[in-house]
Amino acid sequence: PKYVYDFTEGNKDLKDLLGGKGANLAEMTNLGLPVPPGFTITSEACRYYLDHEAMPEGLDAEVGRHLEALEREMGKRLGQPDDPLLVSVRSGAKFSMPGMMETVLNVGLNDDSVHGLAERSGNERFAWDSYRRLIQMFGKTVLDIDGDLFETAIDEAKAAKGVESDLDLDTDDFKGLVATYKTIVREHAGREFPTDPREQMDLAIKAVFGSWNAPRAILYRRQERIPADLGTAVNIVAMVFGNLGMDSGTGVAFTRDPASGQQGIYGDYLQNAQGEDVVAGIRSTVPLAELEQIDKKSYAELLQIMETLENHYRDLCDIEFTIEGGKLWMLQTRVGKRTAAAAFRIATQLVDQELIDEDEAVRRVTGDQLAQLMFPRFGEIADDVKKITEGMGASPGAAVGKAVFTSGRAVELADDGEDVILLRRETSPDDLNGMIAARGILTSRGGKTSHAAVVARGMGKTCVCGAEELEIDVKSRQATAPGGVTIKEGDVISIDGTTGAVYLGEVAVVDSPVVQYFEGTLAASDGDELVASVDRLMRHADSRRRLAVRANADNGEDAARARRFGAQGIGLCRTEHMFLGERRQYVEDLILAETKEDRSAALRALEPLQKQDFKEIFAAMDGLPVTIRLIDPPLHEFLPDLTDLTVRVATGDASSDDERLLEAVRRLHEQNPMLGLRGVRLGVVIPGLFGMQVRAIAEAAAELKEAGKEPHAEIMIPLVGAVQELEYIREEAEKVLADVGVEALIGTMIELPRAAMTAGQIAEAAEFFSFGTNDLTQTTWGFSRDDVESAFFGRYLELGIFGVSPFETLDVDGVGRLVRIAAEEGRATRPGLKLGICGEHGGDPDSVHFFHEVGLDYVSCSPFRIPVARLEAGRAAI
Ligand code: PEP
Ligand code: MG
Repeated sequence: PKYVYDFTEGNKDLKDLLGGKGANLAEMTNLGLPVPPGFTITSEACRYYLDHEAMPEGLDAEVGRHLEALEREMGKRLGQPDDPLLVSVRSGAKFSMPGMMETVLNVGLNDDSVHGLAERSGNERFAWDSYRRLIQMFGKTVLDIDGDLFETAIDEAKAAKGVESDLDLDTDDFKGLVATYKTIVREHAGREFPTDPREQMDLAIKAVFGSWNAPRAILYRRQERIPADLGTAVNIVAMVFGNLGMDSGTGVAFTRDPASGQQGIYGDYLQNAQGEDVVAGIRSTVPLAELEQIDKKSYAELLQIMETLENHYRDLCDIEFTIEGGKLWMLQTRVGKRTAAAAFRIATQLVDQELIDEDEAVRRVTGDQLAQLMFPRFGEIADDVKKITEGMGASPGAAVGKAVFTSGRAVELADDGEDVILLRRETSPDDLNGMIAARGILTSRGGKTSHAAVVARGMGKTCVCGAEELEIDVKSRQATAPGGVTIKEGDVISIDGTTGAVYLGEVAVVDSPVVQYFEGTLAASDGDELVASVDRLMRHADSRRRLAVRANADNGEDAARARRFGAQGIGLCRTEHMFLGERRQYVEDLILAETKEDRSAALRALEPLQKQDFKEIFAAMDGLPVTIRLIDPPLHEFLPDLTDLTVRVATGDASSDDERLLEAVRRLHEQNPMLGLRGVRLGVVIPGLFGMQVRAIAEAAAELKEAGKEPHAEIMIPLVGAVQELEYIREEAEKVLADVGVEALIGTMIELPRAAMTAGQIAEAAEFFSFGTNDLTQTTWGFSRDDVESAFFGRYLELGIFGVSPFETLDVDGVGRLVRIAAEEGRATRPGLKLGICGEHGGDPDSVHFFHEVGLDYVSCSPFRIPVARLEAGRAAI
């Protein structure tokens, strides 16, 4: 295969092969934009290298040919002593992983070419600074030397001179540092720093490949659900320098505000600096608009390019650029990350600008983003809560938690179940663990493009950055704000990722406007631009989707809310939820009943309670189907705990009822209750139980009909494994329905592998199927749904055995295959058989796409997930 592509050979659609950075550099090159020449080594070569611990055959020669072409174009050779070509060796995977993998700059410098660079640039200090940067980056990244050794050496050089800033170091200082750095390399890597330019380049390429498996990269991929086996491409790019003097610099820009979607000039610029300085948030940048004063020509050209890019990509782009001696160079672009709110607003703005159509707009927003917009915001600020400072709102949301100053502490407290806010001067990729553990992130340095901001936005986590008035002291675990206010570790603070406000104390949180919109208390026409965008895209998604969306709800209130959120019926009403609380007594009576009469009495007592619940749900869902599932869990779940009872009885503290109960609990005790007496099996074993429930349903429906309403009952039998079970219950249910004179569909859940495999038979007795993918996942994998998440899934996810828990996103290959078979064979028996799904997966975006594809009629999920399911069902259909 071809492993190396010149920038003129690639394009933006080759991200699988060239990575995002390489593909977009090629695209910009072909658009005629000023991109430094270079080439990309494919992620395929990386995968080969990682699998075989050796480079693929022929790669060396192929790289050599492209390097020669680059040298011809630049008119100089890599590391040529009197006029060196220098290159950067940059990682670039298919999905952006900011700062997670490695990059080496200034490759090609050595004891000879440093002089050539000094001469050509007319800047000796710059040349030696570049050289020491190479040794430092190379030492850390390629030779695996502890980076602190280099940092310490530079700190010592500054201390010896009595200065504080790198800018105060001169040529001789850097010459001294180069010597020191070489010693560090010799002592810690057991080899000399390589002076051969091609060797430098080849080692750097391997190191970048290897950095795909750096622990922080692995952690980031898991967090962002990026597949572990993609590998990274490597870009070899001719160096341009932003640190040649004050007419040079480097910056980042967005074609629109990534937090709000507003059009304008957004970005940061740093004079006389290299790109890594900006992303690391180490020195303070100026707003991009100030570039107009600094370098009018480059500024105008940049704006022009930004417009070209936005029109070409038809989307928000982010950009990294460098100005070298007044000449603008584009170092990177990509379709930019954005907040959830910006995603919705930008999508509709682009429709208005006629750059995309509404289908495309819906494709560009996700259910996860919509879910984020439904998070609460800060409400009114109580008198005793003080706003202590303000930074930039870098990633929206409202976060409240205890202040911590290190990532380690954030993880510890979060593990104890505490909400924490991570305070850092700036974050680095090493803070990833702490950022994941925290509710929110607050930094005192860095702009909207700093590491903290970019990573937090990616995670959908609240972040305020650049709160410069905050003095953060990690050692004493406290921060001081103006006016002498201190935040100590453990103090509760609240941060507003939209406005950037920081409060000492707990701020109350209120519903988001998007939730108010779904609730119907805020209209799309009320002037909130975000709500108007959401309304527009939801309408379009609804007009496109084929899947209906129903709710899992088991009381009138939830049903009513679900309907406001757009539910087209109830897909799962779990009747056992109606047996809890005070009603537990009735269940106890039922279990303890010794005679037929006692049992009937217990059932008769339950019936009116059930009926009342059903009436409320039917009323809330008037005119829409309501699927009521008969009782499912094992009865012992409704009895007191075995140990408690045993103690009471043993200490003589028990009533005679307690003793009977203890006897019942022992009798009902099962080693594997999830595989035991539950679902349809209860209906078969306990006479009259299902009959009572069916009667309550039928009578509730009859009474509502009487009152002029339109109830549509669907009776659902859980945990069926054989058609005979269903037939047995069906007969009893039909009798009751006939007796009350009400019609209702009778169907079953498909939640056991045997049910799926015999779906053709089961469909003889079922008018609908609803896939119970919680139990179907449990029984297909043999995973206890209540235990595995804490028992071992963490390790499985860490090792990449799973990308995501199968209880969260449907396992398409295994469980999904059963769903597919059951759907096909069920419909073969009974054409038009109604098919739905009511497990947790019904509200999971990826799973919704699968259910669309296998041709189900509806998904059912919790009321709050309904908008997400509607949107994703629309996206699946487009
Ligand atoms: C299921 O198993 O997917 C289901 C919806 O039923 P429950 O979660 O109540 O077992
Ligand atoms: Mg179930």
